[in-house]
Amino acid sequence: MVKLDAMENPYRLPEALRARLARLVQDAPLNRYPDPVAAALKARLRQALEVPAGMELLLGNGSDELIQMLALAAARPDAVALGVEPSFTMFRTIATCAGVRYVGVDLREDFALDVERMLAAVVRHRPALIFIAYPNNPTGNLFDAGLITRLIEAAPGLVVVDEAYHSFAGESFLARLARHSNLLVMRTLSKLGLAGIRLGVLVGGGAWLTQLDKLRLPYNVNTLTQIVAAEVLQHAEVLTEQAAAIKLERGRLLRELQRVPGVTAYPSDANFILFRIGHAERVFDGLKQRGVLIKSLHGSHRLLADCLRVTVGTPDENDAFLTALTQTLNA
Ligand SMILES: *Cc1c(COP(=O)(O)O)cnc(C)c1O
Repeated sequence: MVKLDAMENPYRLPEALRARLARLVQDAPLNRYPDPVAAALKARLRQALEVPAGMELLLGNGSDELIQMLALAAARPDAVALGVEPSFTMFRTIATCAGVRYVGVDLREDFALDVERMLAAVVRHRPALIFIAYPNNPTGNLFDAGLITRLIEAAPGLVVVDEAYHSFAGESFLARLARHSNLLVMRTLSKLGLAGIRLGVLVGGGAWLTQLDKLRLPYNVNTLTQIVAAEVLQHAEVLTEQAAAIKLERGRLLRELQRVPGVTAYPSDANFILFRIGHAERVFDGLKQRGVLIKSLHGSHRLLADCLRVTVGTPDENDAFLTALTQTLNA
């Protein structure tokens, strides 16, 4: 299968860096528990992410685990978490599993934030948590930063800005942390090329993170993850160059998709493209039969009728996808 369903970076690490990682893993003290606070890795992350002075970091086994810690922390009786629809489905799934009622407010038809309805939901539900993916998955767009700021200012609880796709967007709320004491920014190494090691990062004020840390299981970030992430971040330019190549391909893939008759492809600030096409389910199956796996969102939300999502791959993978798409449509 050409695997374009999960927003993975299609590129592997350079041979020399992989050899270096192999040596580090060879010497790793696997008989010992990991560093419980991952001090060396946090120092690396602080530099690589340009974390503002005075802000702290909390690490998770992927950002999914951070979402779980946040939901557990908020889970008092009658607690509500607020988000937009459609968005990253784990916000709802994890909140619900933690016993937090999840309220989703629909985006506008153009996938923009419906800020008036969001503000009304804030007044009505007094959410302990608000999740905003920036850029949003699966729509790929960045919401207006001014509107998000209005939400942060109106929120009675925490606002988590999930920047999983930051490397492909450039925009960030990190610099705004100092201005809003109820803001937390979340990042992950998954979409950047290290999905296999599971490392998520929550950045914010120490007062919040100290409390959230009480819900973290001991040693949640294992020794191999700590070693590999710290070493790769030492060579962060490798990941930055791969992200630049992916962004270039994103532009080409969007232009090619927009040329396909019957396709509406939406501009993206992430490493995937959402597009609408008649009989999306049949197109999805046709692609799969031809060895190309993408994601069907048809049926998941009213705004996503006949929508498919393709991850930006290598030039060859994207060509294989475009060829399979043309073949499917002409079959
Ligand atoms: C993929 C994705 C994540 C998951 O990240 P992990 O660190 O792999 O758990 C989080 N948020 C959004 C919006 C995503 O699309």
